Amino acid sequence: MSRDEILAFVEGYTREQLPDYQASALLMAIYFQGLTRRETADLTEAMLRSGEVLDLSGLPGRKVDKHSTGGVGDKTSLVIAPIAASAGVIVPMISGRGLGHSGGTLDKLESIPGFRVNLSLQEFRKMLETVNCGLIGQTKEIAPADKRIYALRDVTATVESKFLITASIMSKKLAEGIDGLVLDVKTGSGAFMKRLEDSRELAGLMVEIGKRVQKKVVALITDMDQPLGNAAGNSLEVIESVETLKGGGPRDLRELCLELAGWMLVLGGKSSNLAEGRKKAAQEIASGRALETFRKIVELQGGDPQVLDDYRRLPTGKKQCVIAAEADGIVESIECELLGIACCRLGAGRERVEDRIDPAVGLIVHRKVGDRVSRGEPLVTLHYNDDAKMEAARAMVTAAYRMGGRSPARRPLVFETLE
Ligand code: URA
Repeated sequence: MSRDEILAFVEGYTREQLPDYQASALLMAIYFQGLTRRETADLTEAMLRSGEVLDLSGLPGRKVDKHSTGGVGDKTSLVIAPIAASAGVIVPMISGRGLGHSGGTLDKLESIPGFRVNLSLQEFRKMLETVNCGLIGQTKEIAPADKRIYALRDVTATVESKFLITASIMSKKLAEGIDGLVLDVKTGSGAFMKRLEDSRELAGLMVEIGKRVQKKVVALITDMDQPLGNAAGNSLEVIESVETLKGGGPRDLRELCLELAGWMLVLGGKSSNLAEGRKKAAQEIASGRALETFRKIVELQGGDPQVLDDYRRLPTGKKQCVIAAEADGIVESIECELLGIACCRLGAGRERVEDRIDPAVGLIVHRKVGDRVSRGEPLVTLHYNDDAKMEAARAMVTAAYRMGGRSPARRPLVFETLE
């Protein structure tokens, strides 16, 4: 497609002059045929120019954000945005909703009663001035093309395209007026890119687009062959994030948060290398400053800050169902995407554009890859509100676990870092 054709599509769809069925057909064509590098760059630029580019040059200090390509239990934004902000980096974070089987930062934040992700640009700027961080969604002003195309991809099975992911992520990140960006490119059964080669290509595409516009971009390729941490589902993930900000949380989640936040501090000019950045990030947690920054963010965005001390103020599923191991063995693998789909089936994600999320539902994973388990011990607990949905999710979770007698090879948490 020529640059003009791409522009006409993006403008037409953003202004609601093109119907969903025609846009869906083009997205599906891109999904199957791919785009060239030039077309990907043109699509990104057209989506970026569909709205305003924030000018944050009046705010002192570097502006750095992080974005993930999406996964199951991937809640690092809720932890690292407050860490970086409390260390003095300005974090203008524009996030997304759940996409396909993956969770979304906006849906997680909205499980906090009162939390508003639809701030005006003026309110967003005020957040950055007051607490160094604001967490919002795409708006009519910023990245409006991504707002519409993202929602359409979610329900038309066109998420898993490197080219569409690149344009989606980079258009909204470049609209934020940032100096630097840390990309968390997932790989494995719960990622949109299952194979390392594909994740590497996706990371390369995004880094190249960042470089074209002189932004500092670092891309980490990280494991998503099993859920990150133990919780998947909106309010359950808020609890796990707050626990991590309090110095606890699951080991893999804590470790990835330190690595990503460490890079944000390096790009933000607060640390001269990754080791220093990680140390500083750990100090922000240990001192309680990162938690207090999150409390302020919640409060200023209209949420109930007391949820940080009393998790009962978050929505909770009416019922729980424990799925236990049927025999002794070792967890050889987990079909992570299936766990994500099970969460959506419970109500944590959307099947149609107009679906409402149930913030209370989700699952807690008790046994992860390589863990030994005895017959009758819990593998996963489902938190749910609807019996029929629970039955469907239970079948998926049971099918997702592959048990055996041998310990699988350990996968690294971070495979590669592209600078
Ligand atoms: N995150 C996004 O913002 N867009 C995608 O397409 C995938 C993950």
